[in-house]
Formats: sequence, structure tokens, C-alpha cells
Amino acid sequence: MTASLSTVLGFPFADPPVSGSALIVAPGVRWLRMPLPFALDHINLWLVEDGRGWTQIDSGYGDASTRKLWEMHFANTLGGQSISRVIATHFHPDHLGNTAWLAERFDCPVWMPQAEYLTAHAVAEERAGYGSEATCELFRRHGLAAEQIDVLRSRGNRYRRGVPELPKSYQRILAGDEIPIGKHRWRVVPGYGHSPEHAALHCKELVVCISGDMLLPKISTNVSVWPVEPEGDPLGRFLASLDAFTALPRPRTAFPLSAPESGLPSCGPIMRRGWRSSKRPRVSRAAQESSCLSCSAARWTCSSCFSPWAKP
Ligand SMILES: [Zn+2]
Repeated sequence: MTASLSTVLGFPFADPPVSGSALIVAPGVRWLRMPLPFALDHINLWLVEDGRGWTQIDSGYGDASTRKLWEMHFANTLGGQSISRVIATHFHPDHLGNTAWLAERFDCPVWMPQAEYLTAHAVAEERAGYGSEATCELFRRHGLAAEQIDVLRSRGNRYRRGVPELPKSYQRILAGDEIPIGKHRWRVVPGYGHSPEHAALHCKELVVCISGDMLLPKISTNVSVWPVEPEGDPLGRFLASLDAFTALPRPRTAFPLSAPESGLPSCGPIMRRGWRSSKRPRVSRAAQESSCLSCSAARWTCSSCFSPWAKP
């Protein structure tokens, strides 16, 4: 894409909510922002009016600073009501980190896709092909230098730092489900490639989409091959997933889980990328694997591109 971000995206909100406060972005929908302890320094979360309580969509990284902000929301944003349900779009720590904590505090259920629930537990327990040793071995096979692998290994299980507790039960949500939240219904839009079974949410009546990590306005979604499926094609699945968004009524506003420093992207531009995707050239698997797009290194030998992963 050659056009600048501002020419293809509109941002209806000049500024994001300040820490500990919320911004009304659609009838019954509030925007919360939480910090993250890594380069992507924030995550957007969504609180939706749900009768006498609230449905919380994603929960932030499970650390002390985020929970301190949550305490402010409990006291102010919730208006004396409780969270009656937590929906997790996917298992990543910035999305699932406080889910079990919130569910226990409010004695409420967790709704999420089955593959996301099971993957969270597998990653946390380093079972079934998940874990730092399996990741180190994958990188070794792909040419990462031994000293960089040692750095990776020394990090241990970083997932548990962001997800200190995991939900012990859940209510499964599936592609196409219509979830009633308050006065409206939100349709589960499936996504693959970024995570096993990502669940974006689209509300036809409000004409908005909580797109999660599937559609982001500024950065590229992380699409990675992981050791549990070394011959997988997550990029192909991710691109194919965009077709699910093309079938939606065009939303007025897309709410991604991360956004530029100010405002949220409006409408369509993000989604139109998805609509255009139905006419996109399919990237062949051979082309995807032939070389590194950043440095043109030959397949599987691009240690320089892996290096950022292995910084202490
Ligand atoms: Zn994610």
C-alpha cells in the first residue's frame, strides 16, 4: 500500500481514553486502554453494557500495573454494576491475562473458542509440542545461532508471566454464533493464522466490528509458524480468513485491539482491505518460503531476521 495511513483511514476519536477511564465509542460500548510491558505498549479493551451488568471483551496483560487500572474501573467505570461475562477473542497474554482473575472476582463465566482455551493451557503447561524448548529447536533448525538460542532458552516460559491464572472452565463460542449482549447481538467472525481460532465480533445493529488482532490499522498482525505445526501455513489461513470479513455488512467503525496513538480507525478503510482481499493475488506457498522478504536471505537461513527474537 502506497497511500499514507491518514488518507485511507479515518479516526473519529481524537484521543484515546486516559488510564483508568473509559470512552463511549458506540451506544453501550466503552473503550478502555491498558498498558503492555513490551514494544506494543498498549491494548484496547471493550466493555459492553449487558442488562444489569457488563460483558468485558478481552482483559489485558496479567500484571500489577494493569490490575491497578482495573481497580479504578471497578470503582468508577462499572457504575456499581458487576462484570457478568468475560469474552476472550484469543489466548495471547495481552488478551487473556486477567480473564480468570476477573471471572473469579465477579463469579462470572468465560466465553471463548475451544482451540484458544486449549492452547492457553498447553502453552502455560508447555505440553503437546508447546514450550520454550520446542521453540528453541524450531529456531535451531531454521538457522538461529547457538548463542541466540541460549538467550531464548534463558527466557523460560514467558506466557505465564502475562497469564498468571487460567480459566478452569469456559463456554465455547463458534464461528457464526450470535451472542446477545444487552440490547444487541454480536456475531462471531472466525480468524486463523494469528492464533488458532480467533473470534472477532460484529454487531450488525450498531454497525461496528471488534476486530481483535485480525485487522490492525498500523502494524501487521503477527502470523508465525510455531513448533507444534512446523509445516503449517498460517499466512495462507490468515489471508483466507479475511474472506469472512468480506461477507459482513460494511461496519461504520472497526475496533482493533491495538490502534495508533490517537483515536480509533473508522469504518471502512480497514475493512475495505478485507473486502479487497477477495480479489487479492494468492501468494503461493513456494513464493512465501523462497526467501526472506526483509533481507532476501535464502530460505531457512535468515539468522539476522530471527535475531530480534533473541535479544536479552
Ligand atoms: Zn494476538
